[in-house]
Amino acid sequence: MAYWKDYYTPQTVEEAVEILARYDGNACMIGGGTDLLLEIQQGHRPKMEALVDPTRITGLDQITEEDGYLVIGAGVTHTKIVQHPLMQQHGTCLVESCGVIGGPQVRNVATLAGNIAHALPAGDGTIGTLALGGEIQVAGPDGIHWFPMEETFIGPGKSTVDTKRMMIARIRFRPTGDQEASAFRRVMRPQGIALPMIGMAARVKLSDDVVESARIAIGPAGKIPFLAVKTMSFLAGKQPTADTLAAAAETALEEVSLRTSPHRASAAYREEMIRAQLPKTLGKAVERAQSGQATPEGVGA
Ligand SMILES: Cc1cc2nc3c(=O)[nH]c(=O)nc-3n(C[C@H](O)[C@H](O)[C@H](O)COP(=O)(O)OP(=O)(O)OC[C@H]3O[C@@H](n4cnc5c(N)ncnc54)[C@H](O)[C@@H]3O)c2cc1C
Repeated sequence: MAYWKDYYTPQTVEEAVEILARYDGNACMIGGGTDLLLEIQQGHRPKMEALVDPTRITGLDQITEEDGYLVIGAGVTHTKIVQHPLMQQHGTCLVESCGVIGGPQVRNVATLAGNIAHALPAGDGTIGTLALGGEIQVAGPDGIHWFPMEETFIGPGKSTVDTKRMMIARIRFRPTGDQEASAFRRVMRPQGIALPMIGMAARVKLSDDVVESARIAIGPAGKIPFLAVKTMSFLAGKQPTADTLAAAAETALEEVSLRTSPHRASAAYREEMIRAQLPKTLGKAVERAQSGQATPEGVGA
């Protein structure tokens, strides 16, 4: 058998779910295919009888504003997110995280939905969305429901979204508002091929000169995309001084679980990177919240 036999481009979410059900575990969703096809080709996952591509479903190739949320359809590519003015201003860390994924060829076809569905602890778009408080709309045999992203991850590459029976239809988050902003940073191997070592994203809301609330995501820092909840509580109510942000990084180090990856970085190096980069990431979010100006940085050409 080739890598797949049948390729479907359904017109509705319901039709996509119905096709998956018909194949009873022998079909799965495909976005840009940048993860999936390599995995099938390299024998890391079984060939599929059918692939279901949601990119032709009306509206799912768009970014919209609905009920106070910014909503990203399953067919939206990283390039589309990076270029969207509302995303740049109100979801800056997501633009910065999607903007470092692969190169332009990858970003032009790969989707945020695919990045989240893959559920890797270091998925860049996943880290950016998690920091923003992202929710995913999942369609499956039990209907269509919204879930906070952090409730759906269960292990490396594993989530409650069974991509052979369910689809992520949409992703949404509340846009950052007054005195609020976000930022993302990723550390790469300084030489050789571009291998990310650690990424982190922060969303900060200020109330005059103190932090009203913060959300911080780091990856890889555990078995699932990691939300640094203790550090988030630590920051609430404090002035975002250099000392506070440095102390926030130390708090984060108490709650992360870092591992050594032979080709990427040792746990000790990752620890130093969090110590050095988390204060800068938080500081950038604070600076943007104070100025009201958010110009994404580090986005690939
Ligand atoms: C050269 C290269 C460089 C890369 N660099 C990076 C990087 O720097 N950072 C990074 O995070 N990733 C990177 N990736 C991985 C990949 O490009 C991203 O994870 C991408 O966002 C995956 O999206 P996709 O649409 O291509 O997903 P696909 O490959 O189509 O699918 C990935 C998984 O998600 C499932 N899926 C897809 N869409 C849906 C949906 N709507 N609902 C439910 N399940 C779905 C599929 O069944 C599959 O299990 C790289 C890949 C390549 C080839």
